Amino acid sequence: MLALYLERLYMKKAVVIGAGIGGIAAGLRLRAKGYDVEVIEANDYPGGKMHVYHQGGFQWDAGPSLFTMPNLVDDLFRLFDLDPNKYFSYNKKETLCHYFWEDGTRFSAVADREEFISQTSKTFNISTQIIADYLKRNKEKYELTASTFLEKSLHKWKTWLSKDVLASLLQIHKLHMSSTLSEVNEKYFSDNSKLVQLFNRYATYNGSSPYQTPGIMSLIPHLEMHYGTFYPKGGMHAIVDSLVNLSIEKGIRFKLGTLVNRILHSNNKVTGVMTSKGQIDADLIISNADVFGTYHHLLKDVPRPERVLKQERSSSAMIFYWGMNRKFPTLDLHNIFFSSEYKEEFAAIFKHGTLYNDPTVYINITSKEEENHAPKGCENWFVMINTPGNMGQDWGKLRLKARDSIIAKLSRILNVDVAASIKEEIVLDPAGIEARTRSHQGALYGASSNSKFAAFIRHPNFSSQIKNLYFCGGSVHPGGGIPLCLLSAKIATDFVEST
Ligand SMILES: Cc1cc2nc3c(=O)[nH]c(=O)nc-3n(C[C@H](O)[C@H](O)[C@H](O)COP(=O)(O)OP(=O)(O)OC[C@H]3O[C@@H](n4cnc5c(N)ncnc54)[C@H](O)[C@@H]3O)c2cc1C
Repeated sequence: MLALYLERLYMKKAVVIGAGIGGIAAGLRLRAKGYDVEVIEANDYPGGKMHVYHQGGFQWDAGPSLFTMPNLVDDLFRLFDLDPNKYFSYNKKETLCHYFWEDGTRFSAVADREEFISQTSKTFNISTQIIADYLKRNKEKYELTASTFLEKSLHKWKTWLSKDVLASLLQIHKLHMSSTLSEVNEKYFSDNSKLVQLFNRYATYNGSSPYQTPGIMSLIPHLEMHYGTFYPKGGMHAIVDSLVNLSIEKGIRFKLGTLVNRILHSNNKVTGVMTSKGQIDADLIISNADVFGTYHHLLKDVPRPERVLKQERSSSAMIFYWGMNRKFPTLDLHNIFFSSEYKEEFAAIFKHGTLYNDPTVYINITSKEEENHAPKGCENWFVMINTPGNMGQDWGKLRLKARDSIIAKLSRILNVDVAASIKEEIVLDPAGIEARTRSHQGALYGASSNSKFAAFIRHPNFSSQIKNLYFCGGSVHPGGGIPLCLLSAKIATDFVEST
């Protein structure tokens, strides 16, 4: 300990504002580059949106439930030549999701590509060739764009002059940038509204509307089907726990329950932060706080990039964490109960700023994987609907409305009295998400991707006004969701030289 203390006196100091997944990853990457790292977090727990709730013997992950691209978490252990399996484990899911429709149609989407094609063809009465062609095109889109749009900064000339970008530009017609995701899906599956709906759902993976987001987003199902979906042992929060343990082991300090009020700078270079518990000097700062709040609260003395900050935000969510007093054998880890009028549902969210009367319901049940997440004979339901962001709506009233319509829908489709099975309840709405994570409007994924220009307008991972100030997390490039937040930490810290 004394050696580390003495060593620190000679190290450059980095402060990370916010202990969301992006901030934790950035801290680890800076530590691997030789920085003395301190992470300052307003909440008295790390993880941001990846929090966990306990009540009445039940455990629920508060935020994300779908885990993809676990290799990006593994990479953080490998930075220190450690075997990730010794710290953190996960298993690949053979079933992606169970889908339910009001007319009694049920479909279990499997991970195996050939099996998926065969079962989709049978259930939706569509040729295997059409599905195979669709999946092939999704793969092409992913391969043409991922390395540029997800893994590099879009704000450096170097990126635009690379061979990858030139290759993508030559094949830009394949990306469906001028059609919406729904138009692309309708083109392939015109006769089958259920299959269109199933593939339209992927727009919600970045909090967007399938009727506005560009057709390139059909690369998301490729990502899920090709690379797989996973379940982390212990639940999603175990990802945070394992990374925080690694950080502490590597000498990173966490100052929890400490609000950063200002980013301090002099001669256009960062000098430190002013927090609720005093000043901390720093040679380098990475803000993992929502970029909107970073400019509005921490950088009041710097001109704001208004166009970036005014970008439409992604959808938010209302979540009912229900402890159910019985088991439901027809349900799996991930379950979707579709609304009959998907287009109207998204219009309610993005155009009218309210909830749709009969929303699509997502249920995640981790006790299907780990029985100890619920008391014996019970299940832990994470029941979520997509909602608009918090713009001052009467959430108390909307909660009651949503609860009633969700219970009615699930009771209808599952043919059980769902209300009678609810033993425990916690509710989180967009205002709650905003308050607990300081995410502007409670957006789950930063800015929406409801425009073909969205990727280009997101805030870069560095400041062009203040030297040694960087940004990571879901509100900046390349966007929200765990994998992209982890990539944002990599892109931001790749600008930083090792000490
Ligand atoms: C309900 C829900 C469901 C989701 N589902 C999925 C999913 O299934 N799969 C998926 O991949 N993603 C999902 N997401 C999105 C994913 O959770 C986020 O994209 C990701 O966790 C955001 O991480 P982040 O690094 O941006 O930090 P955040 O989690 O946003 O954390 C930022 C942290 O910064 C702190 N902070 C802010 N300002 C200050 C300040 N001034 N001083 C100190 N600290 C500050 C905040 O307190 C917070 O802890 C979901 C999100 C939610 C809420």
